Amino acid sequence: MPKLTWICVLLTLCVFSFTACFGARDDSSSSMAPSSSSGMMSDAMSDASGAMSDAKSGMSGAMSDAKSAVSGAMSDVRSNASSMMDNATSSMSNAMSDASKAAAAEAESEWALRLVSAESPLPEGFSVETRAIPGYENREFDVRAADALEAMLRDAEAAGCKLYLVSAYRSVERQDALFRRKTAAFMEEGFPQEEAEKQAARYVARPGTSEHNLGLAADIVSANWYASNTDLTTAFADTQHYEWLREHCAEYGFIERYPEGKEGVTGVTYEPWHFRYVGKEAAEAIMSGGSTLEEYLAA
Ligand SMILES: [Zn+2]
Repeated sequence: MPKLTWICVLLTLCVFSFTACFGARDDSSSSMAPSSSSGMMSDAMSDASGAMSDAKSGMSGAMSDAKSAVSGAMSDVRSNASSMMDNATSSMSNAMSDASKAAAAEAESEWALRLVSAESPLPEGFSVETRAIPGYENREFDVRAADALEAMLRDAEAAGCKLYLVSAYRSVERQDALFRRKTAAFMEEGFPQEEAEKQAARYVARPGTSEHNLGLAADIVSANWYASNTDLTTAFADTQHYEWLREHCAEYGFIERYPEGKEGVTGVTYEPWHFRYVGKEAAEAIMSGGSTLEEYLAA
């Protein structure tokens, strides 16, 4: 009997534990339906995704704000840098402009006040940039002073003193040809070469010693001069055209270069038709003081 009892107890235990195990399992599987689990997961996922999305959006907004702030700051920096550069460039430009003006003024005193005479000939191979004076054939002038010459001729005409530009720039080669021709003429008269050259030099400057070779000298008479004259003479000084030139030439930077009574200083006879560009400052000083280029340079 006890044997049967033990079997019964064991069977009961087996059934109990079977029920406990599989019954509980069935119960759990029935209460936690797969669909419900999936929905919760989905909700959780959705929540997580929403949170992620919110976080992303927050991050994105923050990033965007930060980017915008950085961009704004960069823009300010660029703008400030740009305006600083502008200021620097502008002040550099002003400084350059002042410097170039000063350099131009200094340079003008060098080229415009250059003394050319028998004692101070131009260097070998001297050249200058010239341009034609409108209304004339073969009348060239230093490009730096040509506008001043044109303005003087134009204003004189407007004032009722129409002028005529007889001679302007002459190359050293041309001067040489003129001088040789004059020398040859004296030699034909029987002068030995050296003496013939001396005689020729009284009428034609030796090559490189004429202000016309410099490109800054202009022989000017009245427009109708050659109607009653065949050459340049001091009679030009009796014309109103000469008077106008004497009174106004300095306004254009010109001087009467070989005035009467200054032959000992200039080494050249009185030439009331010969005007020389020296720049306004020097011209005003020379003409108002009744002096010469030599005296102005020596002062
Ligand atoms: Zn002359």
